[in-house]
Amino acid sequence: MRIGIGYDIHRTAQGRKLVLGGVEIPYVRGLEGHSDADALLHAICDAMLGALGEGDIGMFFPDTDPQYENVSSLVLLKRVWEIVSKRKCKVYNVDTVLIADEPKIGPFKDAMKENISRILKVSRDKINIKATTSEGVGTIGRGEAIAAQAVVLLEEIKRRKSEARNPKFETNSNYQNRE
Ligand code: MG
Repeated sequence: MRIGIGYDIHRTAQGRKLVLGGVEIPYVRGLEGHSDADALLHAICDAMLGALGEGDIGMFFPDTDPQYENVSSLVLLKRVWEIVSKRKCKVYNVDTVLIADEPKIGPFKDAMKENISRILKVSRDKINIKATTSEGVGTIGRGEAIAAQAVVLLEEIKRRKSEARNPKFETNSNYQNRE
């Protein structure tokens, strides 16, 4: 098992969409950023990369790279899942906290879970989304930003005994390509 933590915060702005967990939430303000600024998915990506010891999301998807301008963070989550998969790991479970005083996140949680579980190939009961407020305190409390935290547990995929016993398997092209 490998565990990782992720945190992200984005400033709110008028004229931007509010996308969290890959779900567009109707609200007067959205989040500012190079991509769609989905703080929840960015925190999950960072937690996955952290569990692998692979740095952070900014190293893989720099905010100076035009190909990531306004990109859906579901695409980034998929890419990070592919890195996890290449490292012969799978996601065991994900726990998250969304910190926003407005809007109410509750009605959108199921759709967020659906998006995340589809991409990470785990059942929805392994994905948890908690929402809390800042009680009106600070930048988040004033509605100037939305933040998210995530913890991800990865499980190393064990090779079958028959594979481990067969040294020829190591030279098998199917296996090689996974490295
Ligand atoms: Mg971010």
